[in-house]
Amino acid sequence: MIQLFHFVQFSPGALKATQSDKMRLLVVSFLVAVAAVLAGSVVIKTLVFQTESSDSFVEMLPMKPLDLRAFTLCMRVATELKGEREVILFAYRTRDYDELNVWRELDGRLSFYLSGPGVFFDVPQIEALETHLCFTWNSGSGAASVFMDGRKSLTKIYKKGHTIRPGGKVIIGQDPDAFMGDYDAGQSFVGEISDVNLWDTVLPASTIQDIYTGERVARGNVFDWETINLKINGLVDVVTREL
Ligand code: CA
Ligand code: CA
Repeated sequence: MIQLFHFVQFSPGALKATQSDKMRLLVVSFLVAVAAVLAGSVVIKTLVFQTESSDSFVEMLPMKPLDLRAFTLCMRVATELKGEREVILFAYRTRDYDELNVWRELDGRLSFYLSGPGVFFDVPQIEALETHLCFTWNSGSGAASVFMDGRKSLTKIYKKGHTIRPGGKVIIGQDPDAFMGDYDAGQSFVGEISDVNLWDTVLPASTIQDIYTGERVARGNVFDWETINLKINGLVDVVTREL
């Protein structure tokens, strides 16, 4: 469907398009969109990090500052690194602090850190078969959870009253220990990661289950993976896939 669209859009005839050609193009675009909706599928980009490195990463440009007293952060992730080392899954850093960093720990637990000691979840290991992850946290109650393929972990109480500060950078693939620098290959992400979305609220469990099954009802209001601008650094392959 997408190839058809590109063919129509870039065919030589389209370059000197008449009004009716333009109308036809609009109709084709509309039909492609309708067909995708009817098929219940959506085409998204996915990031493949083939090798360990200390310089490959992707910067995500947010739609609004990460000034957060609550969040839901979701992603689809697969890795063949098994208990060999810790693996960074998401890093948001301001000048002096790791404001929101998400890890697969050495012992396989999942964790996140809000500028200080982290909160840990003793859940099944992520592995080569893709897992849909969502992390949620609310400053008012301190409630922190992880969802794996739509299933919620127990709730932990973490950093009640804390605020995640704006003004930093979000990257996938590396853990910065300085602002946009001091990366360690031994902590880098190797594998595939996609559909990274961030909200400034805690989404209901039922919405998280819908997102896991590929329904595109709720779009991230801080990061929306379908429209996001990505800045690629180093060796990261960006390919498209259908959900
Ligand atoms: Ca580090
Ligand atoms: Ca760090």
